[in-house]
Amino acid sequence: MKKTAKEIWVFGDYRNYFRNRVTLQLLAKSVELAKKTGSQVCAVIFGNGVQEYVNEYIAHGAEKVYVIDHDSLHEYHVETYVVLMEMIVRKYQPEMLLVGATCFGREFAPRVAKRVHTGLTADCVDLEINGDGLLVQTAPAFGGNLLAKIITPHHRPQMATVRAGVFKELPHDYHASGKVIPIPVPKRLPENRVRLIRSKHEPPRTNRIEDAKIVVCGGRGMGSKQKFKKLFALAELLGGEVGATRPVVYSGWADDDSLIGQAGRQIKPLLLLSFGISGAIQHTAALSDAKFIIAVNKNPEAPMMKMADVAIVADANQVCSALIREIRERIRS
Ligand SMILES: Cc1cc2nc3c(=O)[nH]c(=O)nc-3n(C[C@H](O)[C@H](O)[C@H](O)COP(=O)(O)OP(=O)(O)OC[C@H]3O[C@@H](n4cnc5c(N)ncnc54)[C@H](O)[C@@H]3O)c2cc1C
Repeated sequence: MKKTAKEIWVFGDYRNYFRNRVTLQLLAKSVELAKKTGSQVCAVIFGNGVQEYVNEYIAHGAEKVYVIDHDSLHEYHVETYVVLMEMIVRKYQPEMLLVGATCFGREFAPRVAKRVHTGLTADCVDLEINGDGLLVQTAPAFGGNLLAKIITPHHRPQMATVRAGVFKELPHDYHASGKVIPIPVPKRLPENRVRLIRSKHEPPRTNRIEDAKIVVCGGRGMGSKQKFKKLFALAELLGGEVGATRPVVYSGWADDDSLIGQAGRQIKPLLLLSFGISGAIQHTAALSDAKFIIAVNKNPEAPMMKMADVAIVADANQVCSALIREIRERIRS
């Protein structure tokens, strides 16, 4: 194994900056890891006109920032970014490289790992350093029923992607300073085989689920993405927000922002309507401040039903549809 620099790198994924805080969360975790390994925390940024993000990452824990700033990098192109990352990993030999498990990170990081011949643990929910100074990467396995602890003893860098919301970002430090290492773009970059025709920003959520008075939360028991959509209709009628469990978010029925639980958001509604949710501790840990809970589940023994003030043993879809119908009728009359 080659000798590596005592550096933990965090890839700067700054797209949709105000919603995507995973880079800041990874910097915070790296500060903690670096104390155990005696390493420097570094951010890596590719793009065009990225100085504000350089400053931001320094204010959130980066001691050094590697920057490739060039107008050809204005858009995210996975092929170009992979080539650049491979180039600088080979040159500087960091001991760890952490990437947010965003849509981009998920396609970018495995390609980098393949090119530099190292392993990658995807979608980690924890990172720690073991007695041998190795990065222990904890990731759910077998549909989330097991937690696998994975190490990369023989190859470098040790690479992981990490979901948003697992770690807490550090507060912005206005007095922080860091070293900036500008890196020139190589003359020959791969030709982009994908042409961006149009892009559209998703409007930021205006209402925060953490502050919502009514939350309609759905789990795997809703059955499908199509059926889950009913919860949005119900939430709209009630003036509430929609929350979801992890299997729902992983299946793409609801977005990452909706995840309620240990790895997601903490809520404190006056009324929580819970549909087809078993009530695993990782989910219910975020519900302790809910004032009144109504749960619908086919299984009366589900922990969520035990926790609820009102437990309705029924099909979640039927109850949801009936509520929507009833509310609409009352609005009309
Ligand atoms: C490290 C770690 C972190 C995690 N963090 C989170 C987190 O932040 N948030 C989170 O939610 N999960 C988290 N999980 C996952 C968590 O352990 C559970 O797996 C998850 O919450 C279960 O989601 P669920 O209730 O939707 O699905 P299931 O557990 O599959 O439950 C589905 C429920 O629906 C009921 N049901 C089925 N069909 C119907 C029907 N037609 N009508 C009514 N009811 C029906 C079933 O009886 C069952 O109770 C985490 C796991 C790990 C290991």
